[in-house]
Amino acid sequence: MKSIYWVRNDLRWLDNKTLLSFCSQASTGVFIWCETDSFRRATAFRRKFIIDSVIAFKNKIESSGGTFIITDHKSVDFIPQFVVKHQIEGVFYTSECATEEIAEQNGIDHLPVKIFKCDQASLIHASDLPMTIANLPEQFTSFRKKIEQDLKIHLPLAGPQRIPAWPEEFPEGTLRYRIETEDQKYIHPEIHGGEQNGLDRLKEYVWDQDRLKIYKETRNGMLEWNDSSKLSPWLSVGALSPRTIYQNIKKYETEVAKNDSTYWLFFELLWRDYFRFISLKWGSRLFTDMHAKKKPNGIILKEKRQFELWASAQSGDDFVDANMQELNQTGWMSNRGRQNVASYLAKTMQVNWVWGAEYFEQKLIDYDASSNRGNWAYLAGVGQDSRDRSFNTQRQAAMYDAGGEYRRKWLVDS
Ligand SMILES: Cc1cc2nc3c(=O)[nH]c(=O)nc-3n(C[C@H](O)[C@H](O)[C@H](O)COP(=O)(O)OP(=O)(O)OC[C@H]3O[C@@H](n4cnc5c(N)ncnc54)[C@H](O)[C@@H]3O)c2cc1C
Repeated sequence: MKSIYWVRNDLRWLDNKTLLSFCSQASTGVFIWCETDSFRRATAFRRKFIIDSVIAFKNKIESSGGTFIITDHKSVDFIPQFVVKHQIEGVFYTSECATEEIAEQNGIDHLPVKIFKCDQASLIHASDLPMTIANLPEQFTSFRKKIEQDLKIHLPLAGPQRIPAWPEEFPEGTLRYRIETEDQKYIHPEIHGGEQNGLDRLKEYVWDQDRLKIYKETRNGMLEWNDSSKLSPWLSVGALSPRTIYQNIKKYETEVAKNDSTYWLFFELLWRDYFRFISLKWGSRLFTDMHAKKKPNGIILKEKRQFELWASAQSGDDFVDANMQELNQTGWMSNRGRQNVASYLAKTMQVNWVWGAEYFEQKLIDYDASSNRGNWAYLAGVGQDSRDRSFNTQRQAAMYDAGGEYRRKWLVDS
């Protein structure tokens, strides 16, 4: 079967079910990566991370005899034309769970070809859930307890044995794209796109630096690189599989130590899963200001001014501003920082949380539609489990940056 592998947030060789089915079922085939709207909205750090990850995957596929096209067209424009021109019979892809990504899929699903879609981005497969998506609990704790009663996590899969070849050369080449990221630098030098760099970071965090056993105590830190795992950038583009992380946790528990910290990394991966499934359950409701009342123009203008101050790190709250400086300058912010700046925007400043979530989409190097929207909605008190979670940012600063070192780093150095 002459086929396309539509490359999405599954930029990895290992534990890639979509890749394995493509390799076993396609007689001839080509890999195609297309720009997405979210990529177009992203600013430099995130774009560079994504493109570097795509190129690393392309190099791996090509060194195994495959053909890989990178194009700046959108999938909905490029793939249907390609299907007709090359008499394609099958399209393989990894399914996503957020509204815009599902809309991209709808642009492919109606094509007159066989569609093979595979759900593999979460630690737990949707098909192994002990409940339907419609019956997903509205509180994380209930979800977690049900999952843990009968935990089903698959072992990571090995890479493919062979990659289907493509019979002809493309006269125009396979890179229909201007690589614009070469002269940019990662500000956090530890973060580089690509599967091997993700695997290296996992090894460094768990084994070389031996940080897993103290994860729970350090994860709220904001200054040190090893305070938390920093695996989210690779998870966000699928350059690292959550099952590979889980396998390392289990190995570490057997060979080194098993404690609250080793459990907690798994617990956080369950949060990630939960937001993915909530995204499927809620659909587009997660992407709108669900509970917003219609507001007069004067109020909206005032909100806009407040938003600009927040985004440009001039809110006047030094803890919030330091975190926004870090985000603006590097594309990174710790989880503690994210919680505080989100609460400050939505609760203290009373600004539409959706603008904050959209700003994070542009800036965060690890942007993930479901984790981002789910966390924002949760903190804004409009999501599932809508308790008031306002943070007192100055009290938080006293707890998590008692000596003021973090604030000095980002407010003085900027
Ligand atoms: C307002 C807000 C927006 C966020 N936006 C994103 C986003 O766009 N992309 C993203 O990956 N995470 C997002 N998070 C979740 C969390 O902040 C990051 O996953 C985490 O900071 C990444 O750092 P780490 O890999 O060192 O995490 P660790 O603490 O080492 O955790 C390990 C992994 O568990 C998962 N995880 C941890 N905390 C959460 C959480 N609260 N929700 C979902 N998954 C979690 C992540 O995959 C993370 O890589 C957001 C949180 C908030 C409060």
